[in-house]
Amino acid sequence: MIGTRVNLPLEVALIDVGGTLWPNSWPLRQTDGDGRHRRVASAMRNLTPAAVEALVADLIQSSRIGDAARSVNTEHTVKIPPAEVIVATSLSRQGLPSDAETVGRIRRAMALPVADRLKPLPGAVELLANIHALGLRNVIASNTYWRDAQSYWEDFRLLGMADHVDAIVTSVDAGHLKPHPAVFEMAMRAGGAPADRCVVIGNKETNDIEPALALGMRAILVHPDDPTPVSSRAHAVAPDLWACASVLKAMLAAS
Ligand SMILES: [Mg+2]
Repeated sequence: MIGTRVNLPLEVALIDVGGTLWPNSWPLRQTDGDGRHRRVASAMRNLTPAAVEALVADLIQSSRIGDAARSVNTEHTVKIPPAEVIVATSLSRQGLPSDAETVGRIRRAMALPVADRLKPLPGAVELLANIHALGLRNVIASNTYWRDAQSYWEDFRLLGMADHVDAIVTSVDAGHLKPHPAVFEMAMRAGGAPADRCVVIGNKETNDIEPALALGMRAILVHPDDPTPVSSRAHAVAPDLWACASVLKAMLAAS
């Protein structure tokens, strides 16, 4: 029928993390420096204690502004260099090799595990399980600073959320922050489905909903940790993650 657009069945949910599955932010702690010290030391076993000390001090100093901004909101707007640049610069300044492998190892060491300082938002684990029960795959598509997929897998395992995650793509892996399409395109490939079989679930109109619609995906705006949005171009808006599962079920029934 001319003018009628038939929705194809959904196969993959591309899911945001901060403000969607986790809170928008989590607290800095006095002990963060010690934690990073230990993690960097074990990532650079050939260094003397004094060299580890100097490297960690340099890394913490050069990333302080960004860490402080992220403790207010993970979608902060403070412009600081990417983690890869901060780490490579600190390594060079300390006279250490700054090859990609070493930079990745130090960047992951700087990503303190979050499992002891936050809980998934209410309904997050159930949402992932419900999406699987509906026959879709779950792919995480998230803006991060220190974290790549490998770091996130550890976080999700420790939070008891890994069982219902099929793949993870972060902005560190994609080399661009959302709303750049690179994160969504990489996540779509990881999910093994074209754009018109994907639904994006996220809490930010600009970072999640608009790029999803631009790529021809469906989109659900959720606000379990944000004020009720005044308006949205998303196909549906859900106040919590149980409502999100219901909306998705209705979306599948209509396609
Ligand atoms: Mg978010």
